[in-house]
Order: sequence, then C-alpha cells, then structure tokens
Amino acid sequence: MSLEFILEETAGRARKGRLSTPHAEIQTPVFMPVGTVASVKAVPQETLEELGAQIILGNTYHLYLRPGVETVRRMGGLHGFMSWNRAILTDSGGFQVFSLSELRKLNEEGVTFRSHLDGSSHFFSPESATEAQIGLGADIIMAFDECTEYPADQTRMRASMELTARWAARSKKYFEEHKHEVPWKSRQPSAASIQERQVTDSTPNAGTSGESGGTDCWPLPPDPSATQSLFGIVQGGMDRALRKESAERTIEIGFPGYAIGGLSVGEPRELTREIVESTLEHLPKDKPRYLMGVGTPDEIVEYAGLGVDMMDCVLPTRAARHGLLFTSEGKVSIKQARYAQDQEPLDPNCDCRVCRRYSRAYLRHLYASNEVLAQVLNTIHNLSFYLDTMRRVRHSISLGEESRFLSGIWSRSKP
Ligand SMILES: [Zn+2]
Repeated sequence: MSLEFILEETAGRARKGRLSTPHAEIQTPVFMPVGTVASVKAVPQETLEELGAQIILGNTYHLYLRPGVETVRRMGGLHGFMSWNRAILTDSGGFQVFSLSELRKLNEEGVTFRSHLDGSSHFFSPESATEAQIGLGADIIMAFDECTEYPADQTRMRASMELTARWAARSKKYFEEHKHEVPWKSRQPSAASIQERQVTDSTPNAGTSGESGGTDCWPLPPDPSATQSLFGIVQGGMDRALRKESAERTIEIGFPGYAIGGLSVGEPRELTREIVESTLEHLPKDKPRYLMGVGTPDEIVEYAGLGVDMMDCVLPTRAARHGLLFTSEGKVSIKQARYAQDQEPLDPNCDCRVCRRYSRAYLRHLYASNEVLAQVLNTIHNLSFYLDTMRRVRHSISLGEESRFLSGIWSRSKP
C-alpha cells in the first residue's frame, strides 16, 4: 500500500478523510508545517510530535544543495536522516528555482539555475527533480512544474501551463521507472532514536491530541512493497479556463493526488479564492487535493471549507521568528511595548506549552533581547495554533457544523 484516501464525512463542500501513506496515516484536512532543510526552524522533532504534526514538508531545492541528495539517501532518506517517523512531503524544487528568477535559464528540457549558497550552476529537469525526490524518500513527492508569475498575460499563462503538462508526463514516466529506488528499505532505527522515542512516550503531554498523537511506534520500516506517491500540479495562472484545461490534462496523465500550484504569488486574496474554488470543481472527489503555499489561519479554514484536504505555509513559522503571533483573539505583535508588563498568557484559549507557562511580558522580553528562546517559543505557539485550528475544522466537519464553525473561526482570526 503506497497511498489510500478514504473520505469519511462531508459538510457542505468541506471533507474529512484519512490519507494513508507508507509512514503514517493522516487525518485530513491537514496543515503541513514547512521543514525547509529537514528542520522546521526552531522546533525539534519531538515537539512537533507533541503538537500533533502529522506530516511535514521538505524543500528539494534546499536539500539538493545542502547536504545533498546522496547524503540523505545514505541515511535512509529524510525519515532516517532527521529521525521523523510520521509522513513527509517534498516539493519538486520548481518553486524555489523560479522564485530566484534572475538566476535561471529555462527551456523545454528544464531549468538551469545558480545556487543561492555559492553561485554554482545546476540543472533541474522533470527527470532530475524526480530522481532527487526519490533519493530524499518522502512519502509524497511532487511533479516538476513551472510556477507562473503574477501578473502574466494570456499567451504566457497558456505556454507555462502547457509546459507544466508536458513536464508532468515526464515526471510520471521517470517516477514509474525508478520508484523502486526509494532508500527506505535499508533504514534501521538507531539506538539513539529508540531511546528518544521512549523518552517522548513517557512525557505526560505526548500524544494528548487524541487523533494523531501517541500512535507512533519507534521507526518501523514501511511495508517493503510500498513506494512513494507522485502528485500532479495544476497550473494556469489566474485564468479559470486555463486552470480547467490544466486540471483535465493532469488528470489524463493520472496521479493519486492533485495539487493546485501557482497561487499566493502576489494576487489579491479574492482572486486566490476564486481560482481555488473553480479549480476544485474539476478535480476528482475521491483523490486528495493539496493547495500549495497558503495561508493565514482564516484562509486555511476557508479553503478547508471549499474542499481542500492538504495545505502548507511558511507563515506560522516565519511570522513567529518576526514576533508575529496568531491567537484566538487576533494577531499579536509581541515586540510592542504594551506587553512589557502584561502578565497574561499569550492566548488564554490556547493550551500549548508556551501559553500554559509563560507571560506575554516574558515573551516580549525574550524577543526584545534577541534571545534564541523567543524564536523557539513563538514558533511552538504559532504551529500549535495552526494545527489546533485544523483539528477543530476536522471535528466540526464530523459534527456537520461547517458554516457555524467557519464563521466563528473567521471572526476570531481577523487581524
Ligand atoms: Zn499557545
């Protein structure tokens, strides 16, 4: 079994389901924290487990440059390398390459780019990006696509969408021919990881999330017959007809899951919603739908309400490192002087370890003093807030309270 998606309940267009991957079962809709270089910045893996993170992201572009795919492959893939036993998804590297647009040269074959680390020249194609992702060994990997810039004219959006469709077919062909090369089979749990697991399991707060925590075994190699799953990506810029055509062409190639890419690239939020809503109509109901790179807490609730199953965003972690915290009472900029003597917890309605223990005054002091602990505590809270928000979305869908919950969250999450 490589991937299985079971839709359990729906409420309006919102869906609650279970996505089984080789390393873990995921409750959807799910928010996926971003671990760019095999690390969710400032948060150790055992804390991610405690927070109930079910699946995290790795960025192929960054990992390919450092430490290099071969190093990760020898360690048994990302799971072995970073000692993470739940699910992982890697992007194709396309988005990072294209976001360094001055540094790239693109043709039908692929894209030549310069490393942001040392200026060295590299080449990504659908084949080589898929090869890199097989070496990294995530449970879910992505077809190599071109993320169309915004704004773009009609000719440009069409050409880019068609290139993505041709690259999707090449990504799939390479994947089918090489998927057995995934490095999981050689992975063995280290003594350190077993010890770590025992410590985590005996921690009182471990696994209190109910539905996702407390179910980890120490590193078990997945079913030997399991492989990764390659998802296709729908592009087409901000044009609904092109998005429809892209969806149809991607579905024709055939993937076990479909992503909507090329959004949150600077367009107004109403346009993002319009494109998401119209694209979802053309995606199969029985396959997971992944909206890439969004968004704020109220946006992730909104998109889950439209029928998106998977989302990722750097916002909770990046904002945390800049002292911007999401709470049930709105955004808090912890650097402000008004919090200097505030004895209250950051979010009185949050049960995370930060809100249970520390005052706003202390968090403000840590941030003002540029202490590393500020980044750690701020990130833990923000991730907790996002993951808890999605947990409540799932609960709400199972109760059939879609509209009431969504409007409740909406008003609470407004800045
Ligand atoms: Zn908190």
